[in-house]
Amino acid sequence: YSLLQYDIEISQSCILKPIDQVAKEVGLLPDEVELYGQTKAKVHLSALKRLKNQPDGKYIVVTGITPTPLGEGKSTTTVGLVQALGAHLHQNVFACVRQPSQGPTFGIKGGAAGGGYCQVIPMEEFNLHLTGDIHAITAANNLVAAAIDTRIFHELTQTDQALYDRLVPSVNGVRKFSGIQIRRLQKLGINKTDPMALTKEEVSLFVRLDIDPGTITWQRVLDTNDRFLRKITIGQSPTEKGFSRTAQFDITVSSEIMAVLALSDGLDDMKKRLGRIVVASSRRGEPVTTDDLGVTGALAVLMKDAVKPNLMQTLEGTPVFVHAGPFANIAHGNSSVLADKIALKLVGEEGFVVTEAGFGADIGMEKFFNIKCRYSGLRPHVVVLVATVRALKMHGGGPAVTAGVPLPKEYMEENLQLLAKGCSNLNKQIQNARMFGVPVVVAVNAFRTDTKAELALVVQLAKEAGAFDAVECTHWAEGGKGAVALAQAVQRASQTPSNFTFLYNVELPVIDKIRLIAQQIYGASDIELLPEAQKKVALYTKQGFGNLPICMAKTHLSLSHDPEKKGAPTGFILPVRDIRASVGAGFLYPLVGTMTTMPGLPTRPCFYDIDLDTVSGEVNGLF
Ligand code: ADP
Repeated sequence: YSLLQYDIEISQSCILKPIDQVAKEVGLLPDEVELYGQTKAKVHLSALKRLKNQPDGKYIVVTGITPTPLGEGKSTTTVGLVQALGAHLHQNVFACVRQPSQGPTFGIKGGAAGGGYCQVIPMEEFNLHLTGDIHAITAANNLVAAAIDTRIFHELTQTDQALYDRLVPSVNGVRKFSGIQIRRLQKLGINKTDPMALTKEEVSLFVRLDIDPGTITWQRVLDTNDRFLRKITIGQSPTEKGFSRTAQFDITVSSEIMAVLALSDGLDDMKKRLGRIVVASSRRGEPVTTDDLGVTGALAVLMKDAVKPNLMQTLEGTPVFVHAGPFANIAHGNSSVLADKIALKLVGEEGFVVTEAGFGADIGMEKFFNIKCRYSGLRPHVVVLVATVRALKMHGGGPAVTAGVPLPKEYMEENLQLLAKGCSNLNKQIQNARMFGVPVVVAVNAFRTDTKAELALVVQLAKEAGAFDAVECTHWAEGGKGAVALAQAVQRASQTPSNFTFLYNVELPVIDKIRLIAQQIYGASDIELLPEAQKKVALYTKQGFGNLPICMAKTHLSLSHDPEKKGAPTGFILPVRDIRASVGAGFLYPLVGTMTTMPGLPTRPCFYDIDLDTVSGEVNGLF
């Protein structure tokens, strides 16, 4: 083992169990499993129905201190913890993780299968197409985009009657509304089922969505980091008769359809959420939905396989669900509710499901509790908070790092002072988790350069800050064996009563909910709503969306809105620039600062190192 240097070499060196064997071991029946080759399978939602009377296992969420470019190892720790619980302590376990976007895999960040001796394998399958879920989202998302522009085009080039004749065609002399059209009529308050009975005014209301192009919030998506698509002009062919407008591409994982997939708790719920998506406002100021566009059923068809969680395994043969990977800023950054629900049934009352929340505890964990747990009804037992000595030193004022340049000596040599100072961030994130009434176990993810005294200091300060326990772990280098102490601490913590509470009541006014998050979780003294945000508060409240939970789109690199402010800043005013709505997924997202929804490629992207051995068929260079 020790000769292997790269994550992909470790991944490729181990012996994989056939995935149908893994499925059998976790108690799935053959007809609940759809094999995608030898190493991946989709699991039918019927398993959830079959196991509905089975009590749930313990629900553990892995989160971290405020991230730094040095990395904290949340995915690695998620995998290390289940390897320890499952392969070393012989408990029933499941890890539930997000599917990574292909953009960063070829761009700058690389994959997200964990690292060292804690990985989901085969990592090339995990990091690339998997079973096509992200491609399905691309297809569904872009169908909606095409439907919007085409609808505007047809409405502007045809009379009411011509539109009606095409939308409700006469077949053998008989006109009939489709199911989705009857829903639209009901929404308009027209209680008629005979297409010939509509008045002229009703026909006009029915055929014209009257989309205001300036209010379109729906964009096209692609799962490639392509900065040149950040702003584009569409409709330039002469066939579009001058109906061109400025638009943009986002990365697929930022699509609301990804957030819908992650939050749905069944096929019916997914279809309802897909139909509720608001894509624009009409000129009358009413929300225009995917259901109004007539596309809900088609979206459900495109997503019917993506809704099934993907079964894989860790390096030590324990089961993993890889399912959904929504953005952690403009969306909630958590893997799917369905994977967690099925896993909790499969492990049984004594077992453990470890799920991961993106970014730091102020973002991923806050959204895990206030959005994901609110919709799923699931209640967490333990928070595992990952910290590293290096990242804490950066929070204590350690120098910035540059990719490709050796780390400054502060990170390579013992420096207890810097570390103690940086633990202000750990302290605040521990308080953030405790605010929800859930016990916190701190996992100190050890690096080769950490000294004994440094690791001991983090453990001591974490306990003083109110952590249930704090444990040094070496799973990256040793696999599950290195996380046994962490696993035992998690077992003990899961026995203590968890008094879980939400941070806010969704019925509170939008501004109050944002202020509560900013003050309680980030440490802000107050919030400031810029004019665009004020306008949106009024609009969404009027449109009836004021009671949705809040999904803050804030930098992950600081507890504040300023990525340069490390540690635990206080006394700042959090500026809210704008607010957007993901009505189908079910949240409002205030924008704090600017968020990139389409990453770019660096000068030397990861793809330089990615290669295919054409003799063995092996993939090289992924990390
Ligand atoms: P996160 O989920 O917090 O983004 P990951 O678990 O993906 O972090 O880890 C980021 C990178 O750091 C991976 O390449 C992983 O292999 C590496 N890494 C994690 N823990 C360690 C460690 N203890 N020693 C060395 N490298 C590590």
